[in-house]
Parts: sequence; structure tokens; C-alpha cells
Amino acid sequence: MEDRKIKIHVENLKKNFGALEVLKDMSIDIFEGEVVVLLGPSGSGKSTFLRCLNQLEAATAGSITVDGKNITDKHTDINKVRENIGMVFQHFNLFPHKTVLENIMLAPVELKLMTKTEAKEKGMQLLNRVGLDAKADAYPSQLSGGQKQRIAIARSLAMNPDIMLFDEPTSALDPEMVGEVLAVMKELAAEGMTMVVVTHEIGFAKEVADRIVFMDDGYIVEQGTAQEVIMNPQEPRTIDFLNKVL
Ligand code: ADP
Ligand code: MG
Repeated sequence: MEDRKIKIHVENLKKNFGALEVLKDMSIDIFEGEVVVLLGPSGSGKSTFLRCLNQLEAATAGSITVDGKNITDKHTDINKVRENIGMVFQHFNLFPHKTVLENIMLAPVELKLMTKTEAKEKGMQLLNRVGLDAKADAYPSQLSGGQKQRIAIARSLAMNPDIMLFDEPTSALDPEMVGEVLAVMKELAAEGMTMVVVTHEIGFAKEVADRIVFMDDGYIVEQGTAQEVIMNPQEPRTIDFLNKVL
């Protein structure tokens, strides 16, 4: 692990909303190709942490460095940073009046990173990859929740990110659709994508995560392999949380 390249370096990150201190002091290094699963009770700051990683939220204090570049620095072009960091949310946020393929083509074309022809070709490749090439011309309303989330993942991948952030991507899905979304994520992980995943899917965490990070109350309480954190947690707050979700 130690000789691997540090992809994301977070140092003494703090985030307040007014008087509310949400992230109190977080430091972590995430390695290239690493899959980190973030666990923790509701309100512990998991979403805020992910949103700081792609600067949807500005840090109150501390720094975040991605590929050696300090993204919390005022002079950093945050749009360039975001192009490289895909994010998938619990709710898919697809554009309802655009087809599946148009949803996927939109960002690279708008940002002039690809021609329409290139974006279409890339879009079809991605649809194939998430097993939905037959749905290219469908509208989001014609898809199941699991299909919508696979499209949302494909849409993020259209920007060729090298980091993917997932914020409870399966929490809004009917149980029978969770597996198909996790399968796409698992494949991405196997291909070497650097991923930070907030999920309550403990099975996925055990199988796919290189590291589990347990957060509570704005701090990292405990981290390690699944064997360590899930099978043999040391901290009372971790044990208490696992007792509730397992
Ligand atoms: P988690 O994802 O672990 O459930 P969040 O990061 O969403 O936790 O939220 C942590 C705390 O920050 C909660 O108390 C939440 O109400 C608060 N919070 C999150 N976003 C905002 C915001 N934009 N404004 C004010 N408070 C917020
Ligand atoms: Mg959250």
C-alpha cells in the first residue's frame, strides 16, 4: 500500500455550516485504484465529506489535494477538477426530457470536450458496458430505478473521470435492483477506478472495499480492512453501528 500513488490527500479538513461543525478534523490519504467504503450513522458527515472532495462544498479549514494539486486553493480551476471526479447520488437526477443517450452525451458536448459524434460513440460504449444499449433512445421515465442508476453511472463515466464518488447509490432502489447497480460498481473497481463509496451494503463493502472507514460525528473513528472494521471492530461506536445495520 505504502508505495502506491496517493490520489487524494485530505489534511485536517473541517466543514461548518454556520455554527454547526459537521466535519471536525478529517485527515486521510486515498491511493490510486483504491476502493474506500465510508460507513457511519446518518448525520455523521459522510455526504458532506464526499461533497468537499469535489468541491460542491467549500472546506472551512484544512486542505484537499488531488493528484498533487490543492483543490481547496482559491486559484484552482474547480471545473477542471470536477471533470475528473464523477459523482453518483442516491437520486439519479437524469434530465427527464432527454433520452438516455442524450443524458450521457450532454456534459462532454456542453463542455466542448467531445464532438457530438464522439460523445455518441462514447455514450453507446458506456451503455453497452452497463448493459443498457437497448435503452439508448428511451426516456428516464421508461426505466426502472436500477436502470436509471446504471445510466447515471454511465453519464458520470462519459467525462472519463479517474475518481468516482458514490453517495448511497442503492438506497433509493427496490431490493431486487440493488444487485445490478452494485455489479456495475464492482466492475469499475476491478478496472482500477479510485472510488469512495458511501453505502450501507455491508456485503458489497466486505467484497469490494480495500479499506473501510467508519465515521461518526465529523471524525474518522476507525479504519482498516473489512476483516478488521466489520468482522472485528474495536471502537464502541463502530460496534454499536454495526449491530444496527447487520
Ligand atoms: P450523512 O451523509 O452522514 O448522513 P451529512 O453530511 O448529510 O451526513 O450531514 C451532516 C450534518 O450536516 C447534518 O447535521 C446535516 O443536517 C448537516 N448539513 C448537511 N448539509 C447542510 C447544509 N447545506 N446546510 C446546513 N446543514 C447541513
Ligand atoms: Mg448522506
